[in-house]
Amino acid sequence: MFTEIKGINEECGVFGIWGHEKAAELTYYGLHAQQHRGQEGAGVVVSDGSSLKLHKDTGLVNDVFKKANFSELNGKAAIGHVRYSTQGDKDGYGNVQPLLFQSQQGSLALAHNGNVMNAYELRGELENEGSILQTTSDTEVLAHLIKRSTSTKKEDAISEALQKLVGAYSYLILTEEKMYVALDPRGIRPLSIGRLGDAYVVASETCAFDLIGATFEREVLPGELITISDDGLDSTRFAMREQRRMCAMEYVYLSRPDSDLNHVNVHASRKRMGMELAKEAPADADVVTGVPDSSISAAIGYAEQIGLPYEMGIIKNRYIGRTFIQPSQELREQGVKMKLSPVRKIVEGKRVVMIDDSIVRGTTSRRIVRMLKEAGAKEVHVRIASPSIKNPCFYGIDMSTKEELIAANNSLAELCEKIGADSVAYLSESGLEEAIVKDKTIHQGICTACMTGRYPVKKQNESVISYTKS
Ligand code: AMP
Repeated sequence: MFTEIKGINEECGVFGIWGHEKAAELTYYGLHAQQHRGQEGAGVVVSDGSSLKLHKDTGLVNDVFKKANFSELNGKAAIGHVRYSTQGDKDGYGNVQPLLFQSQQGSLALAHNGNVMNAYELRGELENEGSILQTTSDTEVLAHLIKRSTSTKKEDAISEALQKLVGAYSYLILTEEKMYVALDPRGIRPLSIGRLGDAYVVASETCAFDLIGATFEREVLPGELITISDDGLDSTRFAMREQRRMCAMEYVYLSRPDSDLNHVNVHASRKRMGMELAKEAPADADVVTGVPDSSISAAIGYAEQIGLPYEMGIIKNRYIGRTFIQPSQELREQGVKMKLSPVRKIVEGKRVVMIDDSIVRGTTSRRIVRMLKEAGAKEVHVRIASPSIKNPCFYGIDMSTKEELIAANNSLAELCEKIGADSVAYLSESGLEEAIVKDKTIHQGICTACMTGRYPVKKQNESVISYTKS
């Protein structure tokens, strides 16, 4: 039997809560705020102190939770997950998280954002030793490693298991008695702790805290394992702390503008990206417009810096999901067409600067340039508020091969021609760093591997693409 295990990278969102009567309901809100991080599946596992209950399904948070009976999901602790899978994932429902494992020694639920790069090797080892894995997700490996540990204390077993993982991961683990929170040694994905009264909350993005009225307490530290129980919060390390390498794309595109990552507000950093871009690559134009929603902040910054009006030249149909978060190129193309429309009265006869946050495959830019020209724009100057993406991401974003990246296979002039623009320019690497790092009270680095090829965690084995089981 042939099983694909690559392509299950997850750019997901996690949420957890400990010590609140309405744990499951609040998890629903926490996931709702993070819907942009994954739209293919959602779920919650709740603990009532003696057992764990699961509710999950494919679809958007609202659809999944419409079917939830909160009175049956009673308990004071819960973890939840929104999921984004990539192509190759044939096991839609099974891979929806949290994953729940039950045994005579107790239950264990997992929610994970990131990508375990050595999942393939670990799966092989586990299978050789007799484990039968239930999903094709890289997340499940951790559960088996924990279960196989000889340590009697759960914290030690989890710590030991985490030490075997290579990659980027934010993990929430729930048992009947405790919740565990872990972040990889470089802190590539975001994860924060907050308080809601006496309850502890954990989320990929701080916008989840705002929605439920929780207050931000602190970031989870790289290599930290936090245990939360009725005795409070206890912090240990499962790995030496390395310099933090928060994914730059979290700032550029992935996170919500109202979230703060590492004490830096996402909207403010995007606006600064636009301002830096205007300094580096000014365009002779009449009007600036941004691709909604993720590029609006950068477009405002660009317009402000260059002294041109910012206009709503493109509008978005709110009822279509994120175009990139569609598991095939065909669906993505159709998605862009349905999602964005030009505002003719604004662009007609004008020289337009079109700001986008990034170009990956070129689908969005190509379509929008054409759309603006068809609506009468005289010239379209494309300005990208991040450096060009030329390298695959192995840390949980669906950009896993160089072939699909337009900037990796074309010169700037070729790319300009392919997308039909009058000119194209990208933000420089130093411009991006300046925009993100500015205003920081603590020095922490970012991961720009997809732009620079400098990978903070090395890929170990090229053979993770697929494997054959007999
Ligand atoms: P593309 O159309 O393939 O060039 O992708 C670029 C567009 O997708 C831009 O408009 C971005 O806003 C968005 N985008 C960039 N990176 C990602 C990502 N990792 N996940 C989802 N969307 C993205």
